[in-house]
Amino acid sequence: MNLSFRNRIALHYMIATAIIMAVTFTVVYFVVQRTVYENLDNDLTFEAEKHTEEITIVGDSIKIKNKEEWAEREHLEVQINPVFIQILDKNGKFMDNSPNLKNDVLAYNPEQKFGGHFNETLNNRAIRQVQIPIEQNGKIKGFILAAMSLESSNMVLLNLRNVLFFSYLVLLAGLYYISRFIAGRSIIPVKVITQTTNRITKNNLNERVILPQNKDELYDLSSGINQLLQRIENTVERERQFTSDASHELRTPLSTLRGTLEVLIRKPREREEYEGKIKFSLTEIDRMSDTLEQLLLLARLDNDSKASKETSIPLPTLIDEILSRQKKAITDKGLSIAFHNEVSQEQIVPGYYTNLILENIIGNAIKYSRKDTTLQIIITESDAVLICKVVDEGIGIKKEDLDNVFNHFFRSDALDHKSIPGNGLGLSIAKKAADAIGASIEVESEMGQSTTFIIRF
Ligand code: ADP
Repeated sequence: MNLSFRNRIALHYMIATAIIMAVTFTVVYFVVQRTVYENLDNDLTFEAEKHTEEITIVGDSIKIKNKEEWAEREHLEVQINPVFIQILDKNGKFMDNSPNLKNDVLAYNPEQKFGGHFNETLNNRAIRQVQIPIEQNGKIKGFILAAMSLESSNMVLLNLRNVLFFSYLVLLAGLYYISRFIAGRSIIPVKVITQTTNRITKNNLNERVILPQNKDELYDLSSGINQLLQRIENTVERERQFTSDASHELRTPLSTLRGTLEVLIRKPREREEYEGKIKFSLTEIDRMSDTLEQLLLLARLDNDSKASKETSIPLPTLIDEILSRQKKAITDKGLSIAFHNEVSQEQIVPGYYTNLILENIIGNAIKYSRKDTTLQIIITESDAVLICKVVDEGIGIKKEDLDNVFNHFFRSDALDHKSIPGNGLGLSIAKKAADAIGASIEVESEMGQSTTFIIRF
């Protein structure tokens, strides 16, 4: 059954109330029933005991005294619920009865314990009955049966049952509509949230859900949605910026390439000139494919769930591998490498991501170092955190740029180091990779002196 949220709340509320009401009404009914029977039973016992005084016992015969007087009395008094009396001998044989019984006979039930009350019928009409032994000198001589009509009591109980049952149904129906109305009012803020979120597209991501006045669960939901929208807006904005930077980054070398080739084709040239221009074009193409590759890597890092399936590797082994891959660049610059491992036990790190981080940071340290200087790589440990520092003696980074070096395409003072190739993507990749494995990267630098990258695993 596909009920709306509002109807579901109303239904649950109604079911809970229905159960409570059913229990209450049943208890009320049984308490009234018990009271009615108790009153009747008290009257019956009283009447039966009273009439044991009004009998005469002669041998085996037991008779009601002054029967005429009794009949007279019944004629004169208006009895609301007359009492029927019947006398039996000790074998249950009929002896005498009250005049109001005429020819009717009360049923003797030898299985009923004496003094106990039970329901019976007389001429197909419901009666309540009690039977009490008649004793003389400690011997049972017979029984006195007393009965009263149960019809008016049963009528009261039947009426009560009908009233309770119908008011139960009417109350439930009323309750359903009232709780539906209240539930409808309570979920108005949810409707507002739905309407706002339905209105939001990628063109108006700055719209927000209006916060309810009460700081309740719906307030939390609305502000949670607003925070989510803020994060989505930031991401979309970053993506936009990234796409525009990426296209700009590729457009520049493409137009340089185009310009070079156009100039080249304008008139016949010397072989050397052709070779020079083609070599230049090839370098531009290489640069573009590097940028493209890094862009793809960044996109992959965004969607990657590789961190969990990572293969682990000892950190010193990984650094050795990176240094041997960079051997040519290190020798060309005349750098000396000082590698200090101050941690004795094995330091295992996630291979793929740590390689992305250190490849870029060590690559930069080599790239931006001054000639014939020292590049230090230090592994330490503090509070069970593995720390790797890469310290170069290079051009350094301006203080105000330190926060930006991890942004896509950011190059600090790129014009001042035109000869050093780069596209500003390396540290973004390193940062993303660090995020994927829960590592952090920090940078400190002294302009014109040195730069230190600190990676905490
Ligand atoms: P790039 O391809 O330009 O090297 P990165 O993202 O790796 O891109 O670095 C961003 C910028 O940070 C670089 O352009 C450079 O200005 C600065 N930078 C990074 N590492 C160093 C370093 N070791 N010394 C000096 N500057 C650095």
